Amino acid sequence: MPAQDSQMMQFLGIMVTISLIPMAVVLVYMIRKGLKTGSQLQGGRTVTCPETGDEVTVEVDAKHAGYTAAYDSEEVRLTDCTRWPEKAGCRQDCVGEIKHEAAK
Ligand code: SF4
Repeated sequence: MPAQDSQMMQFLGIMVTISLIPMAVVLVYMIRKGLKTGSQLQGGRTVTCPETGDEVTVEVDAKHAGYTAAYDSEEVRLTDCTRWPEKAGCRQDCVGEIKHEAAK
């Protein structure tokens, strides 16, 4: 391989490496944010049901929250509530309380 081709390949290798660094930084940021959000919202928690004013236990879909948080569009939704199945399909208005809590 002529010396000029070798230098060109070396230059291309450096350019590819340099262009991958920002992508790696963004990927690490997304993974950290997703994992942090997912672990913060994992497990059951007590909220006040806006419909009754009673305290109930709900469980957040932590995987979904973490995945959406990684893309800067965090969505909190529930996988369980002690008022379910009677109230399954409710609007999950108590989620606002959880979002407020998570933002602290
Ligand atoms: S999931 Fe529905 S029923 Fe359960 S606490 Fe939230 S708003 Fe109330």
